[in-house]
Order: sequence, then C-alpha cells, then structure tokens
Amino acid sequence: MKTRIKTCVIGSYPPQIDTIELMHSYFNQEEVTWEKYIEYAVNDMINAGIDVVSDGQTRDPFIQIFTRKLKGCRTRNRTEIVDKIEYHGPIIIDDQKYVRDLIPKDKKLKGVITGPCTLTNSCIDLYYNDEKKTAFDFAYALKKEAEALQKHVDMISIDEPFFSNHIPDYSKELIGIITKDISCPTILHACGDVSTIVPELLEMPVDILSHEFKASPQLFDAFKEYSFSQGICLGSVRSDDIRVEPVEEITKHIIRAIDIFGDKIIQISPDCGQRLLPRDVAFQKLKNLTKAGEKING
Ligand SMILES: [Zn+2]
Repeated sequence: MKTRIKTCVIGSYPPQIDTIELMHSYFNQEEVTWEKYIEYAVNDMINAGIDVVSDGQTRDPFIQIFTRKLKGCRTRNRTEIVDKIEYHGPIIIDDQKYVRDLIPKDKKLKGVITGPCTLTNSCIDLYYNDEKKTAFDFAYALKKEAEALQKHVDMISIDEPFFSNHIPDYSKELIGIITKDISCPTILHACGDVSTIVPELLEMPVDILSHEFKASPQLFDAFKEYSFSQGICLGSVRSDDIRVEPVEEITKHIIRAIDIFGDKIIQISPDCGQRLLPRDVAFQKLKNLTKAGEKING
C-alpha cells in the first residue's frame, strides 16, 4: 500500500503577540504567559489540516530560544558566547509537553532544534576564538536536549539554515553527535539554495532531508544526479513571499517531485519557517498545502 504523504510545518509560525499585554507584564514584573501564543500557532496549524505540527517557536526567534537557556551564552540585544557552552537543563521540552496536550491523538509533533553551525555563526564569540570548538560544544549540549526531547515528540528536526552559506567539513560529525542515540525519525532542514552542497547533505546521518524546493527549483536537478537513502520533506510553498500559491500550483510541484523522486517524497511543507509572514497568509498557505496533499494522497 502506498504510504500517505504527510503535511508538515518547518518550525516557526507568525507570533500573535499582544504588545500591550507584554508591556503590562514587564512593568508589573509578571511572567508572560507564552502558552497562549503557542496555542494560537498550534490551533492554526491544526485548523489548516497539518499532520505534523510544531510549537510554532513563538516564544523567541530560533536562535535565542536556545542561547537563552544554554550555559555560556549571554543574550541581550545580541547573543554573546562568554564561557564554555554547556547544557543547563531542558530548553524546549515544556513547550512540547504543552503542545502534546493540545493536539488530537492522530496528529504528530516535531521537535525543532537549531543546529550547532547556525548557532555558532549567529553568536558573537568572546570566549573560544575557535569556530570548530564552539560548534562541537554546541553539538554536545544539543545532544542532551535531543535525548530528553525524543520522549515527548514523534520526530526531531535539526535546522541548519547556515549550511546554504557555508558547510564546514566537520558538519556530518556535528549532526551525528546529536542524532546518534535518537530512536525517533530525524530530519535535517537546510533552507536557502543548497544545490552546490547536495553530496554533503546526502552524507548526513538523518532519516529525512528538508529543503526549499519551491523557492529554489534548481534543487530538483541537483538532487536527481544522486541516489540516496533518505526521505525528502519537499518545500512546496514559499516562506519569503506573501503570494498564496493556488492549490493547483502546489499540486503540480508535488507531482513533479514524485515523478523524479518517487516514494522518497514522504513529507510536504513550507520552504522554511513562516515567522515573517502575516498570520492570515501563513494560515492560507498551510491550508492550500493541505488541500494539495489531499489531492495527491487521493
Ligand atoms: Zn529554513
């Protein structure tokens, strides 16, 4: 029997932040109730019909979510590395537990970890003066988060947007440190034009490769040169463009991918996180993605 292609989000969703309430909390020194914002995002994903949801990363941008809770990082108006990077305890786990209770039993949850290369290159280093050492310490800290996280999610994605700029020759080792003892499916998401680094990506010790095939259609040609074992999460609607792709257009894109890659296409998603889109646009894109998925799955 043909396996159903699953609709997924990548990670972030436009935060529905109430700035008046945030100011009120700040001046009254009250805790902000982030759960409400997570709930907005997750409800939109569920209402759009998405099979694999995330927590929407509404609490913070994807770098700060991690650097705020890792020892050795200092996050003010920029993030600095001021000491040895070490795991200090759960980072995104409470949010996943919260999402798990919100979603119907037939929906899956993806835990999203920002990768060591992207974290390394997004921080001002005042301690290591050595990019490789910094990246490895991030990887060892993220490994601990991933090991704890796998008990609460159905799959784990490592997001490395930085790979499209530069992929260090030790990147496979870094990703392997994180995925080594993980028993749930693992994903590597690298957005941007990754057409020149396909051989390196195919070496990655993960189950699924997730890339922006919609904004970078040259990836079709770049990937079809190779045979590989991983499944593909096919970027099918753009995250950098407010135009909502019609269902027909998305369906055609998915059919093109299936014609080339066959049953390797196991997930369809936006090209990247949707944080920067207006909320109604992000929602409509997910809805059309779902409708296209339904057409393909029959
Ligand atoms: Zn991305």
